[in-house]
Formats: sequence, structure tokens, C-alpha cells
Amino acid sequence: MRITFHGATRQVTGSAHLIEIGSRRILLDCGLHDHDRLDPNSLNREFLFDPRTLDAVILSHAHNDHIGRLPRLMRLGFNGVIYATHATADITGVMLRDSARIQKEEYSYAKATEVEDLPDPLFELIDVERVIDRLYRLPYSTPTDIFPGLTLTFHDAGHILGSAMVDLQFREEGRDRKFLFTGDLGRRDMGLLPDPTVVSGMDVLISESTYGARTLEPYSVLLKRLHAILARAHRLRGKVIIPAFSLGRTQRMIYCLQELFYRYRVKPMPIHVDSPLANRLTEIHRDYPEAFTPEARRLMDRDPSYFGSRYVHPCLTWDDSKRLNHQSGPMVIIASSGMCDAGRVRHHLLHGLEDENNAVVIVSYQAEGTLGSHLVAGHKQLHVLDRPVEVKCPIFVLDGFSGHADAQDLAWWYSQTGGKVESAFLVHGEPESMQAIAPTLQKSVIKPVLMPEYGSIHEL
Ligand SMILES: [Zn+2]
Repeated sequence: MRITFHGATRQVTGSAHLIEIGSRRILLDCGLHDHDRLDPNSLNREFLFDPRTLDAVILSHAHNDHIGRLPRLMRLGFNGVIYATHATADITGVMLRDSARIQKEEYSYAKATEVEDLPDPLFELIDVERVIDRLYRLPYSTPTDIFPGLTLTFHDAGHILGSAMVDLQFREEGRDRKFLFTGDLGRRDMGLLPDPTVVSGMDVLISESTYGARTLEPYSVLLKRLHAILARAHRLRGKVIIPAFSLGRTQRMIYCLQELFYRYRVKPMPIHVDSPLANRLTEIHRDYPEAFTPEARRLMDRDPSYFGSRYVHPCLTWDDSKRLNHQSGPMVIIASSGMCDAGRVRHHLLHGLEDENNAVVIVSYQAEGTLGSHLVAGHKQLHVLDRPVEVKCPIFVLDGFSGHADAQDLAWWYSQTGGKVESAFLVHGEPESMQAIAPTLQKSVIKPVLMPEYGSIHEL
């Protein structure tokens, strides 16, 4: 087999790995790089291979950095099947339609402001609809022959709803081989989703490494800290603003709050979810009750619908959103984007940062240069939506709510692989994260663990 790395190499976006087994060419993930979508030189525009030569795409999960270039691939001639779990397929449609809508807006704005050398949008809604037509759904833990002699099995990765590790088994040069791609691995003991599945006996492994250099706080500690923040909001009648990604983090935070209210008898307060995309994605979560742990299901069974406790209020319109600016707390506002550089959360920050009774809770990774990263760094004078704002309310960082395995989780998962992995590659991490976790992974791997570069080819 041969692997070529087309993204998430020594960084965390644009996941895409080309696997060649015999005459078959399969792309694992087709994620968006974190580049300006209208940049004519962006890596998002072209592929280093001809999309027409691919036989299939297999998706690990539906975050944009794993699926966001699929419509571009389609536009450039891809004509094969796209394999995904049932939930990933549902979410992919919603995420890509939203992405096409945002691009259309960005493109119209750029055109109106007469940006020079404006390239075509990366893709349009028609390309998204063609992606949706190509999706083929498979359940977890069900080996399926996708080509003669090539068997695909999805294992639950515990990262977000629908997330999967990709297991490919085949016969090559007279021996049976097993390949595994972790996709993004979840944390253990996080309440809502099950732990990542134990998988062993693989010959070749591609592993994520996002938090390879970090130990995150355990869930019980995170709940206690969140409890204290809610108690403060009750006391001061303040707002708790939680910037959160629409997919995964928003639903996890709703569940944590439900858990505090129901299991730990914390005095409830209204939870306003201010993101149309997040509310749509929460509806999809309700369609997959079997995806959650038995404890989470028991807890959410107390409500008429999952993630919809009587304390959750979706903001459906801009007016609903603006009305919150004039209401007093206590209340929780969960709004996107997770890094505060887009979306409705900026309005809540603009109106909320100068009130010392409020609080901001950072629960997501904040890329350098984003508004969220300035909040985490403790900057007191900021610009939000081009207006100067003084930060008077406290900023709490609870990034342990991440959906990614930390160094301990990765060490646990590697230790159960059987210790005889022939070749392993680290992707989806900054270089320092990879270097920190590589010695741990090496204990289970025969050949030196590699950190491939963009475009590098590996014969195995
Ligand atoms: Zn992810």
C-alpha cells in the first residue's frame, strides 16, 4: 500500500490522506484548510491528485476540517462513492449547505466591494447536493466489502456524534493487512459520548495528536468549576457567555448544564442557544439516542426530547438574539463561533464584556490571532465588531471540555493496540504536540514513528 498526505500535516486543518491499495485509490477525509476561501492561492482550490482518478472517499466525521472540501472535489470531477456513518452523513449535508451559504455571502460582499482578481467561489450549493447524492451510509462495527478483497469497518471514535475510526482490511502480497486511521479521537469518561473504541492488531496506523502535549482536566473537575461559575451568575444576576462550535461543543455544553441541574441539583437558569446551525445540528443529535452513554440517556430521558430540557431556549431569529442584550441574568448564552471571530457571539461579547457581573467561559481551542485567543491571553482593551471594548468581566478557560483525547487518553489508546504496529504516522497536531506524544506511541510501533510533511509519499 501507499499513503500520500494531503492535509493536517504538522497542523490541524485540511485532513485528507490518499490511500492506494492495489489499483484502488481511496481518500480518507476531504477537509477544509483554515485559509481564506477567496484566496486564489489557497490549498483549498486544488488537489495534488486528479479527483477523477479516485474510487472512493471515506469520512471519519463531519467537522469542516474533515469534510469541507468535498464539494470542491466533486466540482473537479470526483465520481465515486463517499462512505460515512449514518449520523456523519446527516450532519455532512447540514454543514456543507451552511458552508455554501456563507461562501455565497462572502463572495457577494467581495464583489460589491470590488475586490481585485476575485476567484470563483470554491463551490456552490449544486456541488453540495451532488455530494449528498454520493453518500453511502454504514453502521458502526459492521465489516463491509467496499471493493473485492477490501473490507471497511467504522469504529466509534467518541469525538462527536457519528465520529469514526476507519479500519481497512485487505490481502496484499500473500499476507493479510490491517490499516487504521483514528480520525479525531474523543476523551475518556466525558459523560455524553462513549469512550473511543479499543482497536488492536493493526499493521499501519495514522493517529491524530491535537492534544499530544497536554493533560486536560477530568470531567468531574470541569463540572465543579462550571458549577461555581453558575453560582456566581445567580449571585450577581450575570450572564455566562460560552462561545462554542455549533457541532459537538454546543451539544456537550447543553448536556453538562442539564447534568448540573438534574444530577447535582444546581439551581437552574435559562440556557439560550444562539446559533441557527447549532440548533439544526442539535435536532440531528435527537435522532440518534443510541449514540450516547446509558447514563446520559437516563438523564436526558427526563425531558420530552434530548438536549431540550425545559431550560433550553433556541434563538431562532435575529430579534430573539438582540432581545438578550436587554435582558438581565442569570442566564447562559451559548453562541457560535467557538473562536469568537464570526457569528452571533460577537454581539453578546460587545454588549457583555464591560459588565463585571458577567462571565465568559472558553471551552474550545483558540487559534492564534482570533478574538478568543486575546480573551484567553487576558487582554483588557479589545475591538469587537470594529468597536473598542474594555474587558471587565472575568474570562474562565475550561478547555478540558474539548472533544479531543489528551496525552493520557492517547497513551491509554495506544497501549491497547497490541504493541506490534509496523508503521505509524502522526497527523492533526502542531509539531510540539506530535513530538511530545511520539515517544509514547513509539512503544507500540516497530518502525520509527513518522510526522509526515504535506504531499509526502510513503510505500508500506
Ligand atoms: Zn473533529
